[in-house]
Amino acid sequence: MGKKGKSPFSLFSLPHFPQMRRIIIFLLTFLFIVSWLPSVHASGYYTVNLLVAHDEEWDYIASRRYAYSGETLAMIIIADAFYYFYQSFSITYRIVAYKNWDSDDSVTNKDVMFDEVVAETGFYSGMTIAGNRVDVLIAFSDQETIGAYGLADSTLGVVLVMETYLSGVGQATENVLQHELSHLYGSLDEYQNGHLCVMNNYPYWIGFPYYYYVPTALVTNTWCSTATNIIQSNRGAWGRDTNSIGGGCGGTVWWLARWMMAW
Ligand SMILES: [Zn+2]
Repeated sequence: MGKKGKSPFSLFSLPHFPQMRRIIIFLLTFLFIVSWLPSVHASGYYTVNLLVAHDEEWDYIASRRYAYSGETLAMIIIADAFYYFYQSFSITYRIVAYKNWDSDDSVTNKDVMFDEVVAETGFYSGMTIAGNRVDVLIAFSDQETIGAYGLADSTLGVVLVMETYLSGVGQATENVLQHELSHLYGSLDEYQNGHLCVMNNYPYWIGFPYYYYVPTALVTNTWCSTATNIIQSNRGAWGRDTNSIGGGCGGTVWWLARWMMAW
């Protein structure tokens, strides 16, 4: 109940606050534009549900090098890779569950280790955990006996990623994850000198004071046009189009909120 003679919207017409009026109109206009962003984007969002497995070596290096739990480090690495997939392809990753995985320390063959984590977690794409369909398994380890940074199987929807920290490069685990996830979308390894692409395995020289080579994939998060085109055309390979879920509440902000709540 307002005072006699005043409209309920008198705030907007108060002559003493023209600036406030301008601010309110600006905010309303801004919110209106933001609410339309998803349909401007138009291409849809693919949400991929993840099972995340981490073994004892991963947990050890997580606390030793980063002072995080294995789960927290896994979450951070996935968030880093998510950023690139989200920006370039509107693909979002959502962690449905974490599982501890007890990797066999005597294994030296990368395929054997790969099979082990699939068997131990009982993962298959399409399985259900707590009512959520799981699309992809990301397995983290730091067991360096297999002599590989990572591995991917685009039929199973599984990637195996080793914790990777290199002198002169720093933390590059998310590069490995980005590389392996790209394989799930059909992107192929490249081998080309001077080609800055996260799919490129060509040796890249790390100079003073280290003097050694690392795969180019570990020093860039960029996808070259070949990789971009392949991932773009297969971006719906995993997960589901979630643009229309909830009758229009599928904007960027909403999904970021969902994504953060999923942690
Ligand atoms: Zn590769």
